[in-house]
Amino acid sequence: MNNSPSSKELLELPLEKLIACHECDLLMLKPELADGETAECPRCGFELYTNRHQVVRRSMALVIAALLLYVPANFYPIMRLNLLGQASVDTLWSAVVGLYNNGMEGVAVVVFLCSMAVPLLKLLCQFAVLLSIHFNIGRSYGLLLYRIYHHMRDWGMLEVYLMGILVALVKLADMADVTLGMGLMCFIALLLVQIWLEVTMSPHQIWEALSQEQPHAGN
Ligand SMILES: [Zn+2]
Repeated sequence: MNNSPSSKELLELPLEKLIACHECDLLMLKPELADGETAECPRCGFELYTNRHQVVRRSMALVIAALLLYVPANFYPIMRLNLLGQASVDTLWSAVVGLYNNGMEGVAVVVFLCSMAVPLLKLLCQFAVLLSIHFNIGRSYGLLLYRIYHHMRDWGMLEVYLMGILVALVKLADMADVTLGMGLMCFIALLLVQIWLEVTMSPHQIWEALSQEQPHAGN
């Protein structure tokens, strides 16, 4: 830590004025950013944070889009399968039920949690957090929900399921007549919207907004 302000000077500053690089732990003065600017670590070049324009509104639009896509992604057919004259239509939900009924209860529960329950809870948490910032109500609850959201992030594994579905489709295409369904399109769209949302909803701005002006200073 032998950068511009000496370490002694840094330690005397209030904590809100300091920022540490996530990548190389360099402690530095927090730069004031204008709309749309990005701060990078002077040592390793890691992006410290970005001040995105209208972060709450843009994130809100993406969360609503994701919630709207969630229903068809889970309940519309992923694919239609025609094998020796037998047709079957599969949705994500019917796959979970199928696993459960075939004696794979444990797998069914894991698939249900990681592909349906956690992604929905994550979206609802993000939605509630954004609402609490937008309407300036219950920010202490918003803070709690945002913490919960960060814990759940590792458990929603839509990308893994998409890979699984694609591999299965490629394999099945040789054996049977496979038609892709609306569910798969919605699933892919949901995944893309969620990635976009992760990029847009800059955590730095959300944490900062949540810790500002709390009516009943809830820690
Ligand atoms: Zn760094």
